[in-house]
Amino acid sequence: MTEYGQDEILELIWTLRESGRPTMETLLRHTEEESPETLLDDLAMGGYIDVSPEEIRMTKSGEERARGIIRRHRLAEVLLANLFDLEDSQIENSACKFEHVLSEAVTESVCTFLGHPPVCPHGKTIPRGECCDRIRTEILPLVTRLTDAGLGDTVRIVFITPKSRKRLEKLSSLGIVPGSRIRLLQRNPSYVLQIGETTVAVDRDITDEIFVKRA
Ligand SMILES: [Zn+2]
Ligand SMILES: [Zn+2]
Repeated sequence: MTEYGQDEILELIWTLRESGRPTMETLLRHTEEESPETLLDDLAMGGYIDVSPEEIRMTKSGEERARGIIRRHRLAEVLLANLFDLEDSQIENSACKFEHVLSEAVTESVCTFLGHPPVCPHGKTIPRGECCDRIRTEILPLVTRLTDAGLGDTVRIVFITPKSRKRLEKLSSLGIVPGSRIRLLQRNPSYVLQIGETTVAVDRDITDEIFVKRA
């Protein structure tokens, strides 16, 4: 997994730079990679970094690649922290995997879904993406709260984050489970949903907990 290891090194260079000048010495002290020297050589050969005795500097393409990694990592942190109330160690673990696999399209959807957050849960800056600069409505988020679904649109439930187990059971007895199709018929005075032949009225705190995508 050379690519993976290279990503990790670039990520580390970026984060070290946030608190000073990254040098060979600080990098070797912080890295968890097995053969960082080889990875540094590969990165230098690939034109991603310039290494001098005083500093490890990213080239333009290194900068671009690192920026993408950091962006995916920190967006994943926001996603996992906001949505699933996960513990910090679990977040870190998963975010580290996401950063290598999220495609550009998925990253933009996640960013848009989260409202283009400027910082991660640790308060570190999330590099901006194209989606953050474009007009918000141009890129439709992949997943939205049912609350924000279009009236009359048929959507599919992706996941539900209920406050209690009891509520989850209530919802599933109504057929409101991940995978099922649902329509939002009305917003006021209460939210009216159609599931199959059935219509039910629910409060907004419930529609806030149901995440859907266009069916
Ligand atoms: Zn963070
Ligand atoms: Zn964005």
